[in-house]
Amino acid sequence: MPGAIEFRQVPKPVPGGDELLVRVRRIGVCGSDIHVYHGTHPYTTYPVVQGHEVSGTVDSMGDGVRGFAAGDRVIIMPQVTCGACYPCRHGMYHICDHLRVMGFQTGGAAQEYFPVSAAMALKIPEPLGLDPAAMIEPLAVAVHALSRFGDVRGKSVAVLGAGTIGNMVAQAARASGAKCILITDVSAYRLEKARRVGCSLVVDPRRQDLGEAWNAFGPDGADVILECAGSQEAMADAIRLARRGSTVVVVGVFGTPPAVDLGLVQDRELVLAGSLMYRKNDFEAAIAMAASGAIDFDDLITHRFAFEDYPAAYRTIDEAAGNIMKVIIALD
Ligand SMILES: [Zn+2]
Ligand SMILES: [Zn+2]
Repeated sequence: MPGAIEFRQVPKPVPGGDELLVRVRRIGVCGSDIHVYHGTHPYTTYPVVQGHEVSGTVDSMGDGVRGFAAGDRVIIMPQVTCGACYPCRHGMYHICDHLRVMGFQTGGAAQEYFPVSAAMALKIPEPLGLDPAAMIEPLAVAVHALSRFGDVRGKSVAVLGAGTIGNMVAQAARASGAKCILITDVSAYRLEKARRVGCSLVVDPRRQDLGEAWNAFGPDGADVILECAGSQEAMADAIRLARRGSTVVVVGVFGTPPAVDLGLVQDRELVLAGSLMYRKNDFEAAIAMAASGAIDFDDLITHRFAFEDYPAAYRTIDEAAGNIMKVIIALD
């Protein structure tokens, strides 16, 4: 039930024919995990095993698995899809009508050994450590969000919201060759983190005039605005500041439906695009991006806890009240 974390001793799972048994080594905690913990996540049933940002090593595998060996370092795509609905039949399985996400609607990886379909596992290349590997999942969210616009090389990109996802979007945009990147947040802590990872245009819209800050883009404004805050103010800013013929990508998750001036979408011929999770190609692109050294993960990992200290980790997140980035649970 919400608010209670329980440890259970279970037998070591036996992998099915097409499954890997992953020895879990790192689990990233994300905001949605905390919503589940507090019972404020709308699409979860209890009890649930959490854990969807994960890296580990292959322990063993079923007879039907090819391409993996014991000891391989892997990460997991946490989606379970139906394969039969319209989106699944058209290559858009990430928006499956019956999408279940591990750690939310189906069991997650917060366990020592996790059996998972080999099709949902990806190997991580040598230069990547287990910590950054556990952050490929949020990086893949960022890569997918940018792909909803297209190639950002030479483009001006505004990122509204500098939490882990917004930060990753800004870093992924830079790694993809964006010309000018501006990032906003109402938290001085998150803006400082954005600065640490190399963003130079950081703006607190409650303290500075965002319209004025926008001049950094020059007369042509931003080519794409990504809303990563899930807030009414940020969404309204996105629509208000969007240049004619530009794209607004909705990445943030909204607790209450935002009210925005859709008349501007018509008058300025804006393209409004949603973004949910990722597909395998986004994961592959994120792995390549991370392996190239283009992404600063270290400055985002602010806390580490041992597996048995899960309750302390969640307590710390609650007490930090937003002044926290990525918490990693490490199993050895
Ligand atoms: Zn997450
Ligand atoms: Zn489906």
